[in-house]
Amino acid sequence: NPRAAGYHPIEDATWKRGERVPYSALASTLEIIEEVSARLKMIEILSNFFRSVLVLTPEDLLPSVYLCLNKIAPAYEGIELGVAETSLMKAIAQSTGRTVSQIKSDAQDSGDLGVVAEQSKSNQRMIFKPARLTVKGVFDKLKEIAQMTGHASQTKKVEKIQTMFVACQGPEARFLIRSLHGKLRIGLAEQSVLQALALACAVTPPGQEYPPKEINASKGRSAESFKAHVDQLALILKTAYCECPNYGKIIPVLLKEGIEKLPDNCKLTPGIPLKPMLAHPTKGVQEVLQRFEGMTFTCEWKYDGERAQIHIHKKDVSIFSRNQENNTSKYPDIIARLDKCKSDGVESCILDCEAVAWDREKQQILPFQILSTRKRKDANEADIKVQVCVFMFDLLYLNGEPLVKRPFKERRELLKQNFREHAGEWLFATCLDTTKMEEVQEFLDESVKGNCEGLMVKTLEQDATYEIAKRSRNWLKLKKDYLEGVGDTLDVVVIGGYLGKGKRTGTYGGFLLACYDKDCEEYQSICKIGTGFSDEDLQTHTQLLKEQVVPNPKSYYRYDSSLEPDHWFEPVQVWEIKCADLSLSPVHRAALGIVDPEKGISLRFPRFIRIREDKNVEDATSAQQVAYMYSNQEQVKNQQADGGKFA
Ligand code: ATP
Repeated sequence: NPRAAGYHPIEDATWKRGERVPYSALASTLEIIEEVSARLKMIEILSNFFRSVLVLTPEDLLPSVYLCLNKIAPAYEGIELGVAETSLMKAIAQSTGRTVSQIKSDAQDSGDLGVVAEQSKSNQRMIFKPARLTVKGVFDKLKEIAQMTGHASQTKKVEKIQTMFVACQGPEARFLIRSLHGKLRIGLAEQSVLQALALACAVTPPGQEYPPKEINASKGRSAESFKAHVDQLALILKTAYCECPNYGKIIPVLLKEGIEKLPDNCKLTPGIPLKPMLAHPTKGVQEVLQRFEGMTFTCEWKYDGERAQIHIHKKDVSIFSRNQENNTSKYPDIIARLDKCKSDGVESCILDCEAVAWDREKQQILPFQILSTRKRKDANEADIKVQVCVFMFDLLYLNGEPLVKRPFKERRELLKQNFREHAGEWLFATCLDTTKMEEVQEFLDESVKGNCEGLMVKTLEQDATYEIAKRSRNWLKLKKDYLEGVGDTLDVVVIGGYLGKGKRTGTYGGFLLACYDKDCEEYQSICKIGTGFSDEDLQTHTQLLKEQVVPNPKSYYRYDSSLEPDHWFEPVQVWEIKCADLSLSPVHRAALGIVDPEKGISLRFPRFIRIREDKNVEDATSAQQVAYMYSNQEQVKNQQADGGKFA
């Protein structure tokens, strides 16, 4: 039982050294995790499972980690699970002798096809016992299924699923079906899985001879010093993952040389996307000048397009999105014209840029909405209607050398030395190095006239490294619209829907929105919204979200019962929202406990702006950001200065 505090990775495991890890061991671990709500406990349970894998079958650590994350490959390889529900129902029906309509109706009642699959199976008598499933076997099959294409692929997928499904016992059926559906959602986010892995390696270090001398390295050490050690390993592991988000590269190093050696081996590499540096919102030139007092900084136009991380290694070129998705086949036009911007001496590099829709006739920037009409994949260069201009703003790697630790001033010089502009196709971000208030203000106005969102203000020398995956205070965004108000829009997750009345009957008329608390890994309600939608928007949202309805709220949703929506949804979509201001709320739970022990924060007068296709739900505005935006409002700051409490 991996729940046990004194877990022994050999004696308590359900398999022996050298055997493949049975899928049942993973399924029962996930089953226990699902029953637990304390995150630290979940991490400990998962780490105990990983310890057994480390000692008994280290070669299965990679598929074990992938299955816990419900992934089969790095995001940038674009291989995704998510088999259609109808195919899964067919496979369950055919292997249990039930009808598809029975399964469908059960699934509607319980909202969880995995549970229906498990129950359907438990009622079935087995004549013979099939060979047990292994983690590696399941992982390989899931990958094969995800890669099947072509017109007969649905039938073949169903067949493959069936061969696995008949061999499932107990909770295996539940987790197998959920994985195939792309909805494992046990409440463990990637950061927790990484933490569990670090904990496992700290307690039972990998790479020991068998039988291992060190089964429990925490023994004999004080709790504090051991915790510090675990946190240090976790930080190294998480940092390596930001620079090189590929478990296929990280796990072998971790097994052979230990987590400490990851920084030497899993570095920035052209062809592997890194998590980008992000900016902090501000609400005015004054705030920027205060923050950067005594430092050198530059102001750049903030273009409203799509982030494009361009990787070049000799003849290989890839373009990645903000979320490390592979956008290479979206931009054949950019790739075809690379030689126009690149000097001959550039063999390999990583450029940080914004791809912006461009009007060739008028030679000007077009709004983001136009860019979003471009085909997302496999675009044919000849058919492209929306032209783009790429605005280059940073250089992160050049000819074998990572530049992220160098100050921006140097990176910018290298960028300008090694790349050149080409009208309407490649431009450097327009910039101005000044510390004068009036000049920054004027430059901001110009950026808006130039169809930009405002400015990005960046440090040049001191504290000016490229901070991978970090929302840094050394990059400040200054948007025109919100100077007096909140400073920025919020990106929130839709967790519930209210059925429309009158003109809106048949669609949802309003929605419950939530921010994401990264520490507790939970979605906290932040406001209800019913404005900003066109009729067409409502139709589109309704169509998509009806597919995501679940009968009960997720265990990781925080809300007040007075807000109970008609339908709860899986957390699948991020919306960008504008609001008048943020206020303390007795009913909403956003950032509860950060600025007030009992009250959360809510958005006043929220308006829908757009769907953020480029953000995962875990990239939504965090509770910490909400608290910061709330406290940074003029009226709140004034009250604080008066010694008043938060109103
Ligand atoms: P975030 O990325 O901060 O979570 P977001 O996706 O809503 O939020 P903004 O904060 O509005 O984006 O702006 C940051 C984005 O602005 C960058 O990810 C990048 O795509 C874009 N951008 C445009 N111009 C620049 C520039 N000169 N420097 C850096 N980023 C820029």
